[in-house]
Amino acid sequence: MTPATPRIVTCPTCGTAVKWTASNELRPFCSERCKLIDLGAWAAAEHKIPGDPVNDDLLLQELED
Ligand SMILES: [Zn+2]
Repeated sequence: MTPATPRIVTCPTCGTAVKWTASNELRPFCSERCKLIDLGAWAAAEHKIPGDPVNDDLLLQELED
């Protein structure tokens, strides 16, 4: 008998291990915050929008955990 083990992916924003399950609507992100940060990152790269320093602070806090 093999237990149903969820596939584990890493959050693109902070690298946290995330269970890839049907109920996890934020996958592959670990949190809504990381999802928004990642979306903001590519949006800034695509459109050259100046980054918000508040978001940078949040990201640094996440990485330190
Ligand atoms: Zn994350």
